[in-house]
Amino acid sequence: MAKKQFKAESKKLLDLMINSIYTNREIFLRELISNASDALDKRRFLALTDKKAADSFVPEIKIEADKTARTLTVTDTGVGMNKEELEENLGTIAHSGSARFLSEAKDKENLNIIGQFGVGFYSAFMVAKKITVESLRLGEEKAWIWTSEGADGYTIEEGSRDKAGTSITLYLREDTDDVNYSDYLDSFRIKTLVRKYSDYVRYPIHMDMEKSRLKEGTENEYETVTENETLNSMIPLWKRNRKDITKDEYNSFYASKFFDHAEPRKVLHYSVEGNLSYTALLYIPGEPPFDYYSPDYEGGVQLYSKGVMIMEEAKNIVPDYFKFVRGIIDSDDLSLNISRETLQEDAQLKAISQSVTKKIKNALAEMLAKERETYEKFFRSFGLTLKYGIYNEYGMRKKDLEDLILFVSSKDSSYVTLKEYTERMKEGQKDIYYACGENAEKIERLPQLEKVRAKGYEVLYFTDRVDEFMVRMMHDYQDHMFKSVSQGDLDLDSEEEKKEKEELKKTHEGMLEEVKKALDGKVVDVRLSTHLTNYPVCLSASEGISFDMEKTLSQIPDENQHFKAGKILEINPEHALFQALNNAYENDKDRLRDYAYLLYNQALLIEGFPIDNAEEYSRLVCELIAKSA
Ligand code: ADP
Ligand code: MG
Repeated sequence: MAKKQFKAESKKLLDLMINSIYTNREIFLRELISNASDALDKRRFLALTDKKAADSFVPEIKIEADKTARTLTVTDTGVGMNKEELEENLGTIAHSGSARFLSEAKDKENLNIIGQFGVGFYSAFMVAKKITVESLRLGEEKAWIWTSEGADGYTIEEGSRDKAGTSITLYLREDTDDVNYSDYLDSFRIKTLVRKYSDYVRYPIHMDMEKSRLKEGTENEYETVTENETLNSMIPLWKRNRKDITKDEYNSFYASKFFDHAEPRKVLHYSVEGNLSYTALLYIPGEPPFDYYSPDYEGGVQLYSKGVMIMEEAKNIVPDYFKFVRGIIDSDDLSLNISRETLQEDAQLKAISQSVTKKIKNALAEMLAKERETYEKFFRSFGLTLKYGIYNEYGMRKKDLEDLILFVSSKDSSYVTLKEYTERMKEGQKDIYYACGENAEKIERLPQLEKVRAKGYEVLYFTDRVDEFMVRMMHDYQDHMFKSVSQGDLDLDSEEEKKEKEELKKTHEGMLEEVKKALDGKVVDVRLSTHLTNYPVCLSASEGISFDMEKTLSQIPDENQHFKAGKILEINPEHALFQALNNAYENDKDRLRDYAYLLYNQALLIEGFPIDNAEEYSRLVCELIAKSA
């Protein structure tokens, strides 16, 4: 029998499959089952109008494993293929998934991406050295057998099948040290794979399962029997009516699907119909997965089309700032051949993504409004993701996310939203004040907080590194600017106080100038404080980089990113120390220089910065103590 050659493109794809070093070979079964399911769909469609097609139509997919012959056979009662169709469909790459895969997998290195494509029928060559396809096209007389051992071509001969449908037999490769192909003859392994990838295919997938059973008439003798079993559950949980699903069912489905045994914080289950139609079953986890905050964590939802899982972790459908959401999106309108690369171009998916994002946002807003305690727990686990969402998207998502963010504040230890903060602002307060630090206790000890506190203004505590970067991106909340208590002039003084300070400044200009000179470029300015009431000195940052940003940036390996904040040394004129400085200025300039050095280092320490020369600092302190003895 003459061998026919594959078309050039097919040959390339086949070559890749045959020489595959890809480890996720198991997807071949998903591909065969989804083809069988498609063929059954076609027949069912024909049966709607054609009595002959409807006749004796029992939709079924059957899997048989023969351990002696080392074959795995997938049979369906679908429309089947005639001779031309066998040649046409199995000899060319008609579908976009494989074509795209081919264009991207130019070398073997790229084979790891196979699983991301609907690579189709040829994927069976990853596990089989030879494949036969026997098929009888619905309404035709003759059955045909297509046989191929790989890239050197295929043959077609007459077959004997007498019922419409297709039977695909894989002759498995010999086991090697690395790969145990015999695995795919094990009925439990097959069952697991069907459950994993094809559980919700809407036709029954049957297989004979070996079972151990008590022998009749005996008490402890067992015999092995085979029982025909339906492997798939066919009706997915998300396709069932919400009213009939118990919380337990939702939870155990979540646990088994996503391997997370913590109870989910929230379940979102809904269907959208009309122009855009899809069903979503989404979960907000109770706890972050162990690797959630590692840079590699990407998240993603499972995509289904017509009961077939087409992608296990589809990215970009749920946006990054909601990446904690896990779940399933099922839309009959999706193509099986969607790949990671085409995901974003798919108009249907784009629309679904927008709709899903809105639903999640609304669900969170509702949780915040109606179940405050639950929301706060959620926020403790995933709030950081929302904050990064605002920051990473350059503030573009601000409107969506700003009302979902919580802060601890100087008022009490409970969380406050920006809305609540602005609603309870004091008369005359325009800006939103914040202070940065490692934790609330440390922030509360910041000298810069004194004046704002004395005014009775509430201060938000920023304890996450991203907080300050985030509000810079936000710029404002409802026209209220964000103001750091340790940056710039807070403009809290009354007109009178301002005038007084202006006078003071004039009188003491020489001293302030001298202190600045002594600090020799370490500070951009020395000023009379606008922040302090009791503390003697503090540092504040000039416009631009703040202290906490400087600290965060200093952690980046790239030294070009180590921007420094402009530091201003603020001196409290109300403090007794001020007089000491003035005296030193009048009588002993050397002493003034020592004081300047000491005060500057002290202010650094309070701010949590390292000091340059601890020995020098401590020598001067000791000298001072000795002098006062
Ligand atoms: P795709 O399913 O994306 O079209 P495949 O490589 O999986 O690509 O299959 C190629 C074609 O072969 C299918 O489009 C279909 O026409 C045909 N085919 C494969 N398996 C079957 C089957 N079991 N019954 C009928 N036709 C099939
Ligand atoms: Mg297919």
